[in-house]
Amino acid sequence: AEEVGGGDKEVVRNYFNETGFQRWKKIYGETDDVNKVQRDIRLGHSKTVENVMKLLTEQGSLRGVTVCDAGCGTGCLSIPLAKEGAIVCASDISAAMVSEAEKQARAELLTGSTPESPALEMPKFEVKDLESLNGKYDTVVCLDVLIHYPQNKADGMIAHLASLAEKRLILSFAPKTFYYSLLKRVGELFPGPSKATRAYLHAEEDVERALQKAGWRIRNRGLVTTQFYFSRMVEAVPL
Ligand code: SAM
Repeated sequence: AEEVGGGDKEVVRNYFNETGFQRWKKIYGETDDVNKVQRDIRLGHSKTVENVMKLLTEQGSLRGVTVCDAGCGTGCLSIPLAKEGAIVCASDISAAMVSEAEKQARAELLTGSTPESPALEMPKFEVKDLESLNGKYDTVVCLDVLIHYPQNKADGMIAHLASLAEKRLILSFAPKTFYYSLLKRVGELFPGPSKATRAYLHAEEDVERALQKAGWRIRNRGLVTTQFYFSRMVEAVPL
């Protein structure tokens, strides 16, 4: 069942298996072959990951906690979660992203294991769009994925993610405020070669309304802004 309109989703899948994969693998990586804008986005995104890890670990140990990382990309969050002992299910609509995430996880989690310090548990990786995810997890996290879908599609995605989560749901998205909408419109006047798929901003009130409809309330909010990266993070818990 293609809840998220076939069109958008196909475009997003193809993008993240091809040009988007190359672009984002670089941005989320550590190599030097990034331009100024990409370096800035890398910085902002790693701050988002850091903030989420901080929020989660401050609430208690992650050892044995089940976490669904929906739209895991190259594993920027899944890997640190696994390092903290979380039992991670990492999935993404893009097969290219999932195999890259798996490769990086192997390199970071399985190497150097000795009898005294056994290897960390690998996340379970799957190629799956988030609408097809099922099961129950203590925590569901979905970072910087909603940007690819308009609010009417995002509503359904939020409700579905909430239905998988038992204790908390963490989402991050590009905030729609007057200033950022303006920036985005200006950006659209100068399409560069690295131009992504369409980017959709979301108003915090709209995300909050979707969460409330699903029976959840926001407990924590965070915001990361750099020159080219804007991401609002919300942590929601059942009402
Ligand atoms: N969450 C990762 C992170 O923060 O490092 C990756 C963020 S990246 C900007 C967006 C990711 O969402 C891409 O890897 C893309 O393939 C994935 N994606 C987009 N639409 C999706 C969907 N409907 N279901 C699952 N993954 C999706």
